[in-house]
Amino acid sequence: MKSYSHDDLLAFRFDGLPNGHLRHAVFSRRGGVSVAPFDSLNLSMAVADERERVYANRRRAYGLFGRDTDTVVHAHLVHGATVARVTTAENGTWVHHVDGLITDQPGCVLTMSFADCAPILLYDPVHRAIGLGHAGWKGAVADLPGALVRAMQAQFGSDPAELLAAVGPCIGPCCYEVGEIVIDAVTAAFAQPDDLLRPMSDELRVTSDEFRAIGHRPTPLATRHSPPTTHRHFDLPEANRRNLLNAGVRHVELAEYCTACRTDLFFSHRAEKGRTGRFGVVLGL
Ligand SMILES: [Zn+2]
Repeated sequence: MKSYSHDDLLAFRFDGLPNGHLRHAVFSRRGGVSVAPFDSLNLSMAVADERERVYANRRRAYGLFGRDTDTVVHAHLVHGATVARVTTAENGTWVHHVDGLITDQPGCVLTMSFADCAPILLYDPVHRAIGLGHAGWKGAVADLPGALVRAMQAQFGSDPAELLAAVGPCIGPCCYEVGEIVIDAVTAAFAQPDDLLRPMSDELRVTSDEFRAIGHRPTPLATRHSPPTTHRHFDLPEANRRNLLNAGVRHVELAEYCTACRTDLFFSHRAEKGRTGRFGVVLGL
């Protein structure tokens, strides 16, 4: 993934997705007009940001594609595995209860907003079709990435082996502590769950708040109480990559950023305790 700037905007492009017939951008949180905690390029009305600022941000971001909020397709995300095929008729509308959008129509521009969940981008260079998805732990367990691939197979005749895929910036295993509910769901859903659920190291067990409070490296393991064995660090980007590989995809590029580590670049629901905005991903033909 490479960054590029346009006026005050800072955005990223995946190396593995060609720029030409396909256009895409992963926007950072920089270059918008929203104030804290939505600073500054918040693209979502689902948070308590001011409407005028969100619309101004959308004009800036979607404007890179010659679009505005009325000329892109939005999705009302629900952490499931439902995929909808859309056309230019859906530009300017919200598709409800989906976490995946696919299209083969030039001029149909897909967008979703994120803060820790993983953006999934798919491009079929043979049939000239695209898919955009949203997968947090629930989407990974429900195999939203696989559902996106199968929808493109069924609707456009895509061969998974020819698809170019990317998993965008999301919360990394460094920061994604999970409890029993997620551990049980991941264990049931994946063939080799153990390396997706990393044991917590001594340093990782110390929360960032605790770290700030003590202001130095945490006390060594021996002097600390035992860690709860019911907690692990979930590797969300790898889980989504595995879903894509299991669906037959061969080319998967992973973004090298953890949203919770890099709140200077992205919004993070976990790191910012829910008081934050959403960064956008845009994909169009
Ligand atoms: Zn991290």
